[in-house]
Amino acid sequence: MKKRNLTRRQFLTAASVGAIGAAASRSLPTHGIISEKAGTLAILGGEPVRSNKSWPPWPYWDDEVVNSIVKTTKSRIWCRIQSVSGTVPTFEKKFAELMGAKLCVATGSGTQALHTAVEALGIGAGDEVITSPYTDPGTIASILSARALPVLADLDRESYQLDPEDVERRITENTKAIMPVHMMGQPCDMERIMAIAKKHNLKVIEDAAQAHLAEYQGKKVGTIGDLGCFSFQSSKTIACGEGGAVIGNDEELMDECYTVHNHGTSRRGRTEVAGPKYRMNEFEAAVLLGQLPGVQERFARRNENAAYLTSRLKDVPGVSPQKLYKGTTSGSFYLYPMSYHKEHFNDADRSQFLRAVRAEGISLDGYIDQGLHREPWIEHILTSKVYQRMFSKERLERYRAEKGCPNCDKVCQEMVMLWASGPLLGNKEDMDDIADAIIKVYENRDRLSSI
Ligand SMILES: *Cc1c(COP(=O)(O)O)cnc(C)c1O
Repeated sequence: MKKRNLTRRQFLTAASVGAIGAAASRSLPTHGIISEKAGTLAILGGEPVRSNKSWPPWPYWDDEVVNSIVKTTKSRIWCRIQSVSGTVPTFEKKFAELMGAKLCVATGSGTQALHTAVEALGIGAGDEVITSPYTDPGTIASILSARALPVLADLDRESYQLDPEDVERRITENTKAIMPVHMMGQPCDMERIMAIAKKHNLKVIEDAAQAHLAEYQGKKVGTIGDLGCFSFQSSKTIACGEGGAVIGNDEELMDECYTVHNHGTSRRGRTEVAGPKYRMNEFEAAVLLGQLPGVQERFARRNENAAYLTSRLKDVPGVSPQKLYKGTTSGSFYLYPMSYHKEHFNDADRSQFLRAVRAEGISLDGYIDQGLHREPWIEHILTSKVYQRMFSKERLERYRAEKGCPNCDKVCQEMVMLWASGPLLGNKEDMDDIADAIIKVYENRDRLSSI
């Protein structure tokens, strides 16, 4: 059954049939209950679905985190190079272990981790790296810092991830690497991406900045490509304010990461290459170390809550939760994203839908307004002397002509998402509030044009 084509009557019939068999999925039976009790939209003066309740606070901390900071403070080891068993090296060991990777180098941010990975792989002036237009600006900043050209490939409209076929189309003789971004904390189609990389002899740097502990075909994301990069910025699902990490299994390559991030000075103390200073600070590592106990239980709860929420929303016309690739066994759920299809909401604009849901006490948001292919940095680099020296006129003209990513434009327009770091640590009642608010707005879709 294609839900896009359901009329309201067909939907309600499907709902009552569902109610008989599907005790596990509360979505459809509740749909009926909500419409009876909830009535008027809150934005039109009705009772909000959720009021006077708070979400689990974010960033997360507990006594372990505080004790860990105190311990680092008292140790007087405040910089990683003071001791090989200080807080940063200890965190690196534990994080690598948690990820199932051999080694980890901690950095001051996710952007720094990505730049470290690009430099360590020897990617630089005149090289091209293919990545997503739907990501944090830090992703492309890492490529630009190495004076390489970020080439943006379009998305799969339902998963919001890089479309492997478009990645392959954009490979040139200068392409050195693919940087898949595991958006929203869910794995990309890594089987296809790894196959393309192998076929064209390209490196793979995973931007797993949103995808801590997400799993694909039994492996944690970040351990599938040559190197994996994480962010611990405040909003991320493991957080310390600002922080990042590179993980990998190749010892030589990871040594190179250490050297690059340590202003070019290797573990042996010799300055071997030019490099930035991207070392993580001991206090950041203390916050992270204090957060590791219990982290797996918290991620299990995120996954459980997300699965329940999806079970309640999957049959609601007009909102489609993010498509997950086969092989996804666990997600990070940094965000809980859905596509909004206004034709099922009486043609109400996304902004009207969002306002109505927010008035019900659920703060859905549109996330990224426009893809990076529409941002001014592209013209800036194409007209810069540096890039004009490194790339031929023909290449830069083609780059400008082919920068469009129509699926990404659609995703930006259709996205409705919940910042999920805190909320997905909540309970079932919290998830019901989210689903009830969306279903209530769906039920009242005829009124959305008046708000
Ligand atoms: C947050 C983020 C980054 C950058 O990490 P910072 O720690 O903020 O530098 C890169 N890529 C993605 C997908 C991100 O979400």
